[in-house]
Amino acid sequence: MTAPSPHFPHTTTPSAALSGVSMTYPKGPAVLHQLDWTLLPGQVVGLLGRNGAGKTTLLETLLGLREPEAGQVRLLGQPVAQLDDATRARIGYVPQSSDLFEAFTPAQLLAYFRSFYPRWNEAKVEGLMSRWEIPRDQAIRKLSGGQKQRLSIIRALAHEPDLLVLDEPVASLDPAGRRDFLRELVGEVLDRGATVVFSTHILSDLERVAFNVAFLTQGRIALQAPLDELLDQVRAVTGSVTEMAALLARLGTPPLKRTALEAGRERVLTRLPAGTPVPAGVAVDRLNLDDLFAELT
Ligand code: ADP
Repeated sequence: MTAPSPHFPHTTTPSAALSGVSMTYPKGPAVLHQLDWTLLPGQVVGLLGRNGAGKTTLLETLLGLREPEAGQVRLLGQPVAQLDDATRARIGYVPQSSDLFEAFTPAQLLAYFRSFYPRWNEAKVEGLMSRWEIPRDQAIRKLSGGQKQRLSIIRALAHEPDLLVLDEPVASLDPAGRRDFLRELVGEVLDRGATVVFSTHILSDLERVAFNVAFLTQGRIALQAPLDELLDQVRAVTGSVTEMAALLARLGTPPLKRTALEAGRERVLTRLPAGTPVPAGVAVDRLNLDDLFAELT
């Protein structure tokens, strides 16, 4: 791990730090474009983006499974291409789907992975296997999609990672169980101050689970902030161009989005701290998570 900078003695080493990351598939358009993203210890981040926005590509690049054509990725203080074994063992990953190990039983799979990790919480594994009702001795290929996904998550939690990355972790679960399951999952890791990042395109997954949301759009993280704070502060403000210019100058922060309307009017999406004076002719609207998603992705 990097020593803390003498100038910033209280700086925490990010669990993941991406800077200027660009990534294009051969013959395809740019998927990630000079993307910056920082994940800190103790953060639970829901990565939101439309289908095809590049969430899987971003998570794979973050983990060093894809090499970006530009930019840097550091995990737990080390360049991702040069992680030492001890640091690698502090990372957990649950891919979207995996057909590996179909002939193994869950018990065999877990025994196999246990042999790789110096740290392995058997009590937690046993507890979760029972609680999530995974048969131990049936071939993995015979499990349901949801059971496979839960098993994959148990495998990733077993070595108590400090950085846990999950790609659409609840995609195979039924809607009723999704959020409760996510809450439980997040609870498993939060008390250790770990970082959890999971992608989703289903907004209801995030409510009361993801304390931070990151919006991926046009190859970049357009915004990352605590969800409560966004719902509390972000407003759509509509008024004349002059009124909007005055308001933005007063706020002093760049707007999240500006849209020109007819007749010299403009609509601005911005954080509007409580008590900010707004001219009489200006309309201020609240946004829910669906609105934010529609506006920012
Ligand atoms: P998301 O996870 O947000 O749905 P992906 O990262 O899977 O998005 O995909 C982003 C874009 O890159 C999509 O347009 C997809 O078609 C394209 N893409 C993904 N994987 C590959 C690949 N291996 N080769 C070429 N294009 C790909």
